[in-house]
Amino acid sequence: MLLAVMLGAPGAGKGTQAVRLAARYGVPAISTGDMLREAVAAGSDLGRRVKAVMEAGELVSDDLMIDIVRERVARPDAAKGFVLDGFPRTLRQAEALDAVMDGRSLTIVNIAVPAEEIVRRLASRRVCGSCAAIADPTGALTACAKCGEALVQRADDREDVVRERLRVYERNTAPLLEYYRARPTFKAIDGLQTPDQVAEWVAAAIADLSVAGQEQ
Ligand code: AMP
Repeated sequence: MLLAVMLGAPGAGKGTQAVRLAARYGVPAISTGDMLREAVAAGSDLGRRVKAVMEAGELVSDDLMIDIVRERVARPDAAKGFVLDGFPRTLRQAEALDAVMDGRSLTIVNIAVPAEEIVRRLASRRVCGSCAAIADPTGALTACAKCGEALVQRADDREDVVRERLRVYERNTAPLLEYYRARPTFKAIDGLQTPDQVAEWVAAAIADLSVAGQEQ
């Protein structure tokens, strides 16, 4: 059973690492950003409500996000665990998640990357216009390795929006580190290395926790 959240600034590698970690444990990776982007692409009610907020790099309201996540983690595929990516992003969301956990232990992985590196990464990030997979940054940035469709820049990866997302992160999300840091299940990982190296550290940190848990 793995119940985990990936913390970190936009572009720190949360999405990439959430997918890898989730695959390792056979649980779903739940990206709130992907869920919202799908809603926007589908033109649903939810999509229409969040589109402008997302394009400006601001946060969708806590009430809406908490409802979305509560409903998502209650689905059968999440019964054996999940890795959350992009949630919680505010103190209120973190408190709501604790209430949903109902005493079960939450593993918190923070991926740390300096702001200048974030701006550099996001400026060159390309995602698939069709399946939204993140392109390998070391590959030729032309077609999606998964489905062959053309790669595009995310609307909110333009530099002015990135700067605003970083401000939003510092103001609303960085304080979560203080909320979680004292917990024995909090792990901080250096996100400056390659995705493979970071994935190894994440896996080792979590393996450490389960050993510690068994010893208690
Ligand atoms: P992400 O893909 O995680 O960077 O999310 C993209 C955008 O979706 C964010 O910039 C927000 O506008 C919105 N979003 C995703 N998750 C949340 C959340 N937990 N709380 C508020 N807004 C969110």
